[in-house]
Amino acid sequence: MELILNKVIPSENEGKKIEKMIIIGAGPAGLSAALYAARAELEPLVLTGMSLGGQASLTHTIENYPGFPDGVGGAELGELFQKQAERFGARFEFDTVTEVNFSVSPYVVKTYGSEYKAETVIISTGASPNHLGVPGEIELTGKGVSYCGTCDGWFFKDKDIVVVGGGDSALEEGVFLTRFAKTVTIVHRRNELRAGKILQTRAFSNPKIRFIWDSVVEKINGNTAVESVIIKNVKSGEEITFPTDGVFVFIGHTPNTDLFKGQLEMDGSGYLKVDSKMQTEIPGIYAAGEVMDPTFKQVVSSAGWGAAAAIQATKYLEEKNS
Ligand code: NAP
Repeated sequence: MELILNKVIPSENEGKKIEKMIIIGAGPAGLSAALYAARAELEPLVLTGMSLGGQASLTHTIENYPGFPDGVGGAELGELFQKQAERFGARFEFDTVTEVNFSVSPYVVKTYGSEYKAETVIISTGASPNHLGVPGEIELTGKGVSYCGTCDGWFFKDKDIVVVGGGDSALEEGVFLTRFAKTVTIVHRRNELRAGKILQTRAFSNPKIRFIWDSVVEKINGNTAVESVIIKNVKSGEEITFPTDGVFVFIGHTPNTDLFKGQLEMDGSGYLKVDSKMQTEIPGIYAAGEVMDPTFKQVVSSAGWGAAAAIQATKYLEEKNS
């Protein structure tokens, strides 16, 4: 607010409601936080970003979320989470956060469309898939290079596919892609997989899957579509040109924390640091899910952290306003 000629000029947002809680991101952590905060009658506002359900919504079937013995579709689970939170009063805005200011209180959260103020913020912005960083990858993304089997697998009916990575994602998605593809060749940089035993057994027993060990993709070739990859054996240094119609990359994730650089503490890989009560170093600012979790990255653990963050934020507000 500024004073000109004894007249009070309201600032742009003056008179605008101060939210009790804003949740940034709508994956399992954000949606669970929304449920718990809504049940505490905080009427949380969830700023969803571009998509709802987070990375889990891109998974065809989630088999390890408790309560669904036959598995549940990733997108379906996200919708159920949202419906449950809405039932208790959570509000959703399909808007992307562009800037935050945690140096003033109430905290400021700006989106493309609006500016909000909030007493507490729960950050659940998740993580994004890593890129290989090799020639041809960016140019051919959407033309045969993909980071999501559920989204793009259908386009590879009776085609030959290369999958890069040796973790749970590579094997889970690799097995899923055999529904469509003629062959799936998994290229892994070591001769031992990082993925869990169940997925390893499934992949090894699938007749459409073969492995190329100790190898990395050096280049992706093609003009309007992927035609081949150059694969290098890291032990012998030998390079081969391997014909393929598609390249699916599953080599881990990077937390979505660019927005918070310079404002919140992060580890060397960019994950937000929180204490045992999910709070960052700023009182009232919490983080939950893959944005603070370099280790577990499960839907169930993210959902648990979201609930924990909302419980703690509720206590913080009670103490602050008592
Ligand atoms: P991840 O466990 O970090 O595995 C990444 C894989 O990519 C590793 O095998 C790694 O090789 C390889 N890699 C990394 N950078 C590379 C590069 N530049 N070039 C070539 N290869 C590279 O990632 P994720 O598989 O996405 O899984 C992430 C988390 O989600 C994990 O905690 C996982 O358990 C969980 N998850 C669980 C399920 C499930 O429970 N069904 C499904 C999906 C994911 P190295 O092994 O040599 O490091």
